Amino acid sequence: MAKNKKILTTAFGIPLAEDQNSLTAGERGPVLMQDVHLLEKLAHFDRERIPERVVHAKGAGAYGYFEVTADVTKYTKAKFLSEVGKRTEVFVRFSTVGGEKGSPDSARDPRGFAVKFYTEEGNYDMTGNNTPVFFIRDPLKFPDFIHTQKRHPATNLPDANMFWDFLSLTPESIHQVTILFSDRGTPATFRHMNGYSSHTFKWYNDKDEYFWVQYHFKTDQGIKNLTREAATRIAGENPNHATRDLYEAIERGDYPSWTLEMQILTPEQAKNFPWDIFDITKVWPHDEVPPIKVARLVLNRNPKNYFAEVEQSAFSPGNLVPGIAASPDKMLQARLFSYHDTHIHRLGLNYHLLPVNAPKAAPEMSYQRDGFMRLDDNSGGEPNYWPNSFGGPVPDPTAGEPPFDVSGDAARYSFSHPNDDFVQSGNLYRDVMTVQGRDNLIGNIVDHLGGAINRIQYRQTAIFYKADPDYGKRVADGLGLDIKEVERLAEMSNEERAEATKDGSY
Ligand code: NDP
Repeated sequence: MAKNKKILTTAFGIPLAEDQNSLTAGERGPVLMQDVHLLEKLAHFDRERIPERVVHAKGAGAYGYFEVTADVTKYTKAKFLSEVGKRTEVFVRFSTVGGEKGSPDSARDPRGFAVKFYTEEGNYDMTGNNTPVFFIRDPLKFPDFIHTQKRHPATNLPDANMFWDFLSLTPESIHQVTILFSDRGTPATFRHMNGYSSHTFKWYNDKDEYFWVQYHFKTDQGIKNLTREAATRIAGENPNHATRDLYEAIERGDYPSWTLEMQILTPEQAKNFPWDIFDITKVWPHDEVPPIKVARLVLNRNPKNYFAEVEQSAFSPGNLVPGIAASPDKMLQARLFSYHDTHIHRLGLNYHLLPVNAPKAAPEMSYQRDGFMRLDDNSGGEPNYWPNSFGGPVPDPTAGEPPFDVSGDAARYSFSHPNDDFVQSGNLYRDVMTVQGRDNLIGNIVDHLGGAINRIQYRQTAIFYKADPDYGKRVADGLGLDIKEVERLAEMSNEERAEATKDGSY
């Protein structure tokens, strides 16, 4: 046999003599139980799939680096942000949200934009989206909202009634709906879109002064979007177009990059700020908080194995390093729990040991032990409790977030300024969108909302009207709705409108 030839083995390294013919009793006889290689091979195959992510199931990822370009040490003590020119390795995963693992990349949907920074203080995850806002601001609504974006329980089909019923009864969604139905809802590729933290986070410095911040990763490739017609065509012709585009760009050395711009508010500025900075349905207007350029993100290495590195990658907004902390944004607070929880379900308790998820620049030194698939040495004979007097790792008091003030009566508070919900979406429609952008927005909405029943069309069109009368009128016109009825519904409170458009009303 030729030297260095690789010999096929079982999963346990035992050499195999044959891998084409099962062991049978006689030439035409049944297969024997003692063909353990066949049994092992089938049993492994039977278990190859892991649960897909309940959201963000379809995605693509790549490695690269993050390089600091401006001094931000007066805002944060995070070590990976401590010096101009400092580079940190990253892994980034882009995704759609509602579709399954095999769904088309060109679907109208927000895009996930998740960055894992392998810092010397452990892994920091910035788990963002390509939109600066979100549909809802309270996590109690999240499972319901996602159900409406997926499939109908009876037909197993996407359902325009579910989709618009929920959104039209949840007017806080109007800002994100307006972005989603603009051509930004169908980005040309993952390279041609921005990434936003969407949530407000806290940065704090080595003097324990803190700041409220929002992240904007602006694409250096420029924003490019698909029209509805192009997105539909690509879904048929090349349903993996964005996955392919990212992989091939990196293979040919055309490394995509983003410029990180930060919006930063002092606590004093935040007190007088006209918008609730913990409401994820709102942006911070650029003229009030001009973004400052602080860093560059470059993707320059493809994964070698999709399952190992992309499918098994796991991000959590709860992975925050010293110098960066959570804000009271209710959606963020829920995500701090939910991401880690879903990864335990999807990948198992020790998912942090998988190479893509393991800290690369800071070793894990915890007292957590055991559990399924503990695939390292489980810390050998080191102490597995704290406190101990045998030299185990010790907490570092300087690593903690400075104390912060929390007060108030415990209650389930609803948002106190519901009319605010229509201001920023109206500004986007009137002041930011081009004539062509508005035409496409209206066409995209009419095409989709036209699939819902009449009373839901009326209820949702009243919400568009509240954002801007012209917006509502044009949708009404496209759907053939009576504009007087839309105006009547637009004047009502959310509860009155829900009652006026209940089942059987039209
Ligand atoms: P600006 O004119 O300063 O900023 C408008 C921003 O809107 C642009 O910088 C661009 O963001 C973004 N934009 C352009 N076209 C679209 C589109 N079709 N869909 C979504 N976003 C688009 O105005 P303001 O800061 O006062 O914001 C006005 C409105 O712009 C907001 O109500 C919001 O809807 C939208 N917007 C604001 C952002 C912010 O952080 N202030 C961020 C994104 C949107 P970018 O440069 O990030 O691509």
